[in-house]
Amino acid sequence: MIIVMGPGHTEEQLQAVIRRIEEMGYSVHLSRGVERTIVGAVGSKDKTPLHALQQMEGVEAVIPILRPWKLAGREFKREGTVVDVEGVPVGGPKIVVIAGPCSVENEKQIIESARAVKAAGAVMLRGGAYKPRTSPYAFQGLEEDGLKMLQAAKAETGLKIVTEIVSVTDLDILLKYADVLQIGARNCQNYALLRAVGQARKPVLLKRGMSATIHEYLMAAEYCLSEGNYDILLCERGIRTFETETRFTLDLNAVPVLKHLSHLPVLVDPSHGTGHWRLVGPMSRAAIAAGADGLEIEVHPDPANALSDGAQSLRPAKFERLMEELRRVAEAVDRTL
Ligand code: PEP
Ligand code: MN
Repeated sequence: MIIVMGPGHTEEQLQAVIRRIEEMGYSVHLSRGVERTIVGAVGSKDKTPLHALQQMEGVEAVIPILRPWKLAGREFKREGTVVDVEGVPVGGPKIVVIAGPCSVENEKQIIESARAVKAAGAVMLRGGAYKPRTSPYAFQGLEEDGLKMLQAAKAETGLKIVTEIVSVTDLDILLKYADVLQIGARNCQNYALLRAVGQARKPVLLKRGMSATIHEYLMAAEYCLSEGNYDILLCERGIRTFETETRFTLDLNAVPVLKHLSHLPVLVDPSHGTGHWRLVGPMSRAAIAAGADGLEIEVHPDPANALSDGAQSLRPAKFERLMEELRRVAEAVDRTL
């Protein structure tokens, strides 16, 4: 249910409504919009009708939320959410570009990557220190040493750090270094991990699972939101289809569909979505044209020798040229980059 507070309501009336909802065993989620303050009441087994709240002072309406994604949906929050990543807004008119290598490999590699992507206009640096690899024999990441390298790259360039969490047990360590916790496609439905990052007060970049429907994906976001973390960035990164010519099929339908259903910012990862560096440019341009709020792009100073995902990584010079093109596409759809 959502309880819509009337235009002239007082803070006291709002607090009284919140107390009443909590007494009934619901958890309360507040959305203070520009026009309306909405109180979301979620998840009680108590079937006491919330409609009774209609009688309380300051309340304008009590409306059921029809969609299963109670907090991720536009019913709860009409305006788009702008997530503040240490002063960088995501979801506003400016498109954000997160770029960097798939994995942190050594200090030189990550610093070189950071300098290059910063010079080209990226605002956040990506790089995995904990890698979810298909093979247990493949490079698994440098773990805390890798996080320290990311920290050094941030100290030099000011870029915010986006890095993946693969296990709840690593959360405390990641919270020390990351500005954004990335949940990878393979963990999109790892509910214990989603709840854990939901309890953390740190923005989360939640990638779509490669076989997750939009419904399942929004419910994954709902796990984080229901724990009180509203700073969730969605990221389409390709789904599994019958097609084998590309690594995954980048589902750009997901961009306008998610923007319609949800208030959360929507990013696109054209690197994993295609698996080929040649396709990264065209699909980045298409993603911005489709309304994406940002991109996550793999860039490596020496893709041929990358320890992971070299085939889909751009060289810095190519990334720089792409950013120029993207500025023009952004302008054409009334955005900046
Ligand atoms: C990555 O960003 O390097 C990654 C592993 O992505 P995904 O989880 O989308 O496969
Ligand atoms: Mn990768």
